[in-house]
Amino acid sequence: MALKIYNTLTRSLEEFAPGGVIKENIKDYPPATIYSCGPTVYGFAHIGNFRAFVFNDLLRRYLKFRGFTVNHAMNITDVDDKTINKSIEEGVSLKEYTEKYTDIFYQDCKTLNIETVEHNPKATESIDEMINILEKIDKKGMLYKRDDSLYFDISKFSSYGKLSRLDKREIRPGARYDADEYEKNDVRDFALWKAPKEGEPHWDTPFGKGRPGWHIECSAMIRKIFGSTIDIHTGGVDLIFPHHENEIAQSEAAYDEPFVRHWIHVEHLLVNGSKMSKSQGNFYTLRDLLEMGNSPRSIRHLLLTAHYRKQLNFTLEGIKQSDQALARIDNLLLRLEHIKGGKDNPELDTILEKMNRNFIESVDNDLNISGGLGVFFEFVHLINTLISEEKISGEDAAKIIKAIENIDQVFGFIFMEEPSSNVDEERINSLIEERLNAKKEKNFQRADEIRLMLENKGIILEDTKDGTRWKEKR
Ligand SMILES: [Zn+2]
Repeated sequence: MALKIYNTLTRSLEEFAPGGVIKENIKDYPPATIYSCGPTVYGFAHIGNFRAFVFNDLLRRYLKFRGFTVNHAMNITDVDDKTINKSIEEGVSLKEYTEKYTDIFYQDCKTLNIETVEHNPKATESIDEMINILEKIDKKGMLYKRDDSLYFDISKFSSYGKLSRLDKREIRPGARYDADEYEKNDVRDFALWKAPKEGEPHWDTPFGKGRPGWHIECSAMIRKIFGSTIDIHTGGVDLIFPHHENEIAQSEAAYDEPFVRHWIHVEHLLVNGSKMSKSQGNFYTLRDLLEMGNSPRSIRHLLLTAHYRKQLNFTLEGIKQSDQALARIDNLLLRLEHIKGGKDNPELDTILEKMNRNFIESVDNDLNISGGLGVFFEFVHLINTLISEEKISGEDAAKIIKAIENIDQVFGFIFMEEPSSNVDEERINSLIEERLNAKKEKNFQRADEIRLMLENKGIILEDTKDGTRWKEKR
């Protein structure tokens, strides 16, 4: 079995081989060098942003699960058009403004159990590398100065457009664009380095005073950290053009070597079937969703359910379905923890091996996590059946819990910690009693209501011969 991932650059599924040469054993590969475009820290990241960040997390977790070593960087864009405009609007320094939202971003990542990566470079701390790249591009004669800004001459870079597959006719040499973000029908020379406007932060350089364009930042941080061609570059599909196209142009023009081997792009997230927008009232930050009482575990689960190259339709109903999926896993763990003694199941090792193998087979196919989840829930169902048939011993149960912990190194939502629910034991016990009475009176609707109410508060009930047990959700 080999891990294959779709490469946007070649438009094909390719075996993943850190260093670029396929090896027999995964442990013989050098560490996989990965760069993910991080947040622009000008406000709270929204749930669409977090889809991409949770995907980055899945990618690194799965690589490690398969035995690769990862060396992963995700940048913080703390100087660009948006951050500068917002800090001026609020009347605070760029540094003060961006530090606040950088901290908030890291807290949100922690809430969603996104692992810390090996490097978190900041654009403002990589200015020297940017100047270095500018000087190299200048020597090649691929940049020019106009009104104190520096532009990349795309007509001089013959493979410009290879990532986004631009039609050559779309390229209009000589026309320039200043903004960090623009559309495909504005394919023009882009700003590498911008002359500062009144009141904007700037740096002194051999090219005069100025500040970086957005695109040069990522090229510089990648060079600073990794030094040479990297294995994987990730980002949302909206970054393919112009951001990633421009990163390739700058880096390959400066260093005459391939910039990135494998480009991976995550599709958009829709909310209630349409593009998120403040005017449509379907714009959610992570914090909005938590304030509404949704659990971070369920949000993480939901963000992972769709394949990264498919659009994900995010709905509040979807979070409820994720609540239920997680409750099934929690219930199984609760049952397993209570099994003592009994005869070992001779089939168990085979069952565990098969689950693991099928999981890897699914996810190896272009990180098909939906397939992996399917395999896992089939396993949950099977184990539940075996428990009901009393075919699982205490020792078996411990093995099964271990196997679930192992798979959760990839999922990250089963054993993830959640803020404590401040449970009031007395209240829970009285609700359990009320539920019992409702059942006796055959008022099953009320009994179900109570169970769901507790579940939403993070309390799971399990009915046994000896009465009802409860437990906090993990
Ligand atoms: Zn970037």
